[in-house]
Amino acid sequence: MTYKLTHVPGSNRETSTPLVSVVVPCYNEFAVLDRLHERLTAAARKWEEAYEIILVDDGSRHETWEKVEEIASRDPHWRVIRFARNFGHQAAVSAGIAHASGDAVIVIDADLQDPPEELHRFIAKWREGYEVVYAVRRKRKENALKRFCYFAFYRVLARMSETPIAIDSGDFCLMDRKVVDVLNSMPEQHRFVRGMRAWIGFRQVGLEYERHGRAAGEPQYTFRKLVNLAVDGIFSFSSEPLRLATRLGFLVSSVAFCGAVFTLVQRVFRESFAKIGMEPVPGFATIVIAILFLGGIQLLCLGIVGEYIGRIYDQVKGRPLWIVRETMGFEESSSNAQD
Ligand code: UDP
Ligand code: MG
Repeated sequence: MTYKLTHVPGSNRETSTPLVSVVVPCYNEFAVLDRLHERLTAAARKWEEAYEIILVDDGSRHETWEKVEEIASRDPHWRVIRFARNFGHQAAVSAGIAHASGDAVIVIDADLQDPPEELHRFIAKWREGYEVVYAVRRKRKENALKRFCYFAFYRVLARMSETPIAIDSGDFCLMDRKVVDVLNSMPEQHRFVRGMRAWIGFRQVGLEYERHGRAAGEPQYTFRKLVNLAVDGIFSFSSEPLRLATRLGFLVSSVAFCGAVFTLVQRVFRESFAKIGMEPVPGFATIVIAILFLGGIQLLCLGIVGEYIGRIYDQVKGRPLWIVRETMGFEESSSNAQD
């Protein structure tokens, strides 16, 4: 079963109490699921709004799915979507959002790094009239290298992106139905949800919070996945790298031009240069260095162009962003949750 982004189930719900949907992407989070269920439920019970929890199982191993199924069978608030394979965090978040029927949709990681107890502050801001409430990490409890990479990435992205994307804000956020509908209608293949959310606009506000360490289990974002996410963020939200190619081209050509002028002058005034010990020497090394340098720049520029072309290719193929293997718990909340 495939799922189209433009399809928004449940937006024609009949109940009058506002509904908050909580989307939780989950990949091999067996160790943390019970605790997640406990803490999220305890927090949600305190809200005035009705709630549903949409857990997206991103192709986890069997034990995780068994646990998810077990919780879903005893808790009517839980709805689960199981992917056919691992499609990645951003696809899982997007699928959860597309299946949500709430008036507000919250995105939270499964590993409890984002505390569910903070969510009532998000909801309060939403009630005040903000359409996007995003969390800004004040402190991180991760290792120094990861902290530095995140620090550098958000600042580079903020400088390069044509859309102002809030520094240090991840996918942990609350979005109003209006924003969710726009997000669902965006056909982007390489989804960088926090950037798309900023691009949409409406009234947005950041709330500071302290990012905890993982409650249990291992990080599911490998270094490679993190780099891919960073590349998606930069290439999807900026044409600056393309300009970088042009600038580099200019710079190298100018250096080469100056070099050529210098060589010419040196040849013409050979004697004067010889007096100060700068007569021209047959420069094998210089030529090799120049060729390697130019070759490097050309490859770099080709790579940058290639990144964008690859993206166009993916977009043109128009494949579904994820494949759903099965769902649970949606039947009673909205009859049109599946096609
Ligand atoms: N995740 C996912 N698919 C993946 C990788 C991660 O759904 O391919 C989920 C994971 O279960 C967690 C969230 O995305 O709920 C963030 O992942 P992780 O904690 O590994 O990332 P980090 O917090 O280290 O950035
Ligand atoms: Mg985490």
